[in-house]
Amino acid sequence: MNRRNFLYKSAIGTLGLSMAPTLFTGCGNSATPTKAKGKERLELSFEPYDLKLRHAFNLAKNSRTHTPDVQVQLRYGDYIGYGEASMPPYLGETQESVCRFLSQLDLAQFTDPFRMEEILDYIDSIAPDNRAAKASVDIALHDLLGKIMGQPWYKIWGLSPEKAPDTSFTIGIDTEEVVRQKLKEASPYNILKIKMGLDNDKELVRIIRSETDRPICVDANQGWSDKVYALEMIEWLKEQNCLFVEQPMPKEMIDEQAWLHERASLPLIADEFLQRLPDVQRAYGLYDGINIKLMKSTGMHEAYKMAILARALDMKVMVGCMTETSCAVSAAAQLSPLVDWADLDGNLLISNDLFDGMKIVDGKITLPDRPGIGVVPLE
Ligand code: MG
Repeated sequence: MNRRNFLYKSAIGTLGLSMAPTLFTGCGNSATPTKAKGKERLELSFEPYDLKLRHAFNLAKNSRTHTPDVQVQLRYGDYIGYGEASMPPYLGETQESVCRFLSQLDLAQFTDPFRMEEILDYIDSIAPDNRAAKASVDIALHDLLGKIMGQPWYKIWGLSPEKAPDTSFTIGIDTEEVVRQKLKEASPYNILKIKMGLDNDKELVRIIRSETDRPICVDANQGWSDKVYALEMIEWLKEQNCLFVEQPMPKEMIDEQAWLHERASLPLIADEFLQRLPDVQRAYGLYDGINIKLMKSTGMHEAYKMAILARALDMKVMVGCMTETSCAVSAAAQLSPLVDWADLDGNLLISNDLFDGMKIVDGKITLPDRPGIGVVPLE
C-alpha cells in the first residue's frame, strides 16, 4: 500500500493543496487500541488515491480506466476510523475539491466523537454539495465509533447479517468477446447487472442469454430519452427475466418518468434522480424504489435515514456504490440487511484495493464480524 505520499492534515487550517504533505504514521490498524482518555480530539488526515479499473468502464455517456479517490483517516486517541471519497466524473467532485473541502474542517473542536449529529451538521454546514467529501468523514466517524464501541454497524443498527442480499455483478457495454469474458468472471454471482443506454442494448441481453439464464437487472443510466421506447424496452426486459430497471430516463424528464411509472410492469429505481434524504420524498410516485449510495447521500448516517424513510413509503430500497475500495463498499454493506437489492461490486472492479472487508460468498454479501465498518488495511 503506497500510503506514504501526499497526506494532508486538515487541522492545519489552510487550504490543503497548498500545504506541505505530512506522512501517514501508524496506518497499520487499531486492532488493539488503548482507551481514549477523555481529553482527546478528533484528528482528520487524508490523501488522494487513484483507483485502477480492471476493465475500462463504458457507460451510456462516457468511458474511463481510473476513478479518482481520496482516502481518509479519523483519529481519536489510539483509535483510527477509515473513510473514503470516490469521485466518478459525473458527480462533479475531484480530488482537489475533496481535499479543499476536508482542509476547511476543524474537527479538533470536538472532544466527544459520539456527538454524531452535531459533528455531521457542522460538516454539512461548511459548503453545499461536496457529498463524497462529506461521506468520507461520515464513514471514518462511523468506523471510529464502532471501534470504540467494539461493534460492527449492522449490529448497532440491530440488523441481522443473514438478511443481507445477493449482490449483482456489473457487465458493462462492450464488444461481444469482452462481454463473454466478463460473464466468465461473473460466474460466482447470482444476479447480473447490465449497463444499457446505447443502440445495441438488446444485443447485449441476447449475448448474455446465450450463456446464462440467471436473473438480470438493468441500469439504463438515463440513456432512454424516448418514453415509448423506454416502455417497450422495459416490457421486453421483463420477458428476459429482468428484476428491475434503474434510472431508465434522464433525471430531468419528470413528466415522462411519471408516464412510464404508471405503465411499466417492472420496478423502476431512481439513481441519478436522487442524492439525499429530501429526494426520497421527491422520488415517491415517480419511481418504485431508490438506489442509495454513500457518495451521494453524504455517508452512512443519512443513508440509513433514507432507507428507513423509503421503507415507510413502501418503496423498494437498493444499496449501490461507485468504484471504491473495500472501505466504502464495506461501509455500505453494513446497511445491506435492510435492502431489497444490492449492487456492491465496486471493490471487485478495481485492481488496487487497500482493505480487506466485506466478502461475497456464493453471490451473497457476507459481513465480517469486526467493529466499525469491518475493514482492515492490506499491507
Ligand atoms: Mg445507476
